[in-house]
Amino acid sequence: MKIRCKMSVIIGKISDKDKKIELGIEIYCTNCGKKVPSGLKTGEVFSKTDQFKIELEEFMRNYLCGICRDKKRVTKLKS
Ligand SMILES: [Zn+2]
Repeated sequence: MKIRCKMSVIIGKISDKDKKIELGIEIYCTNCGKKVPSGLKTGEVFSKTDQFKIELEEFMRNYLCGICRDKKRVTKLKS
């Protein structure tokens, strides 16, 4: 069994006083549609703001899994 390090992604700016909470949100790669296991985190206070909704939406819209991200990088290097 391969042990994969669980990636933890933080959305928004969490202040020192804000408690980090893990979001139970499933993310899908916008390119291949693969479900990506995520440790999506944000601040407890921040999660209740409109800014959080905007950032989360933006994040989901642009999210690529590791494989697609690598492909993109290779394509970029070639051009
Ligand atoms: Zn992908």
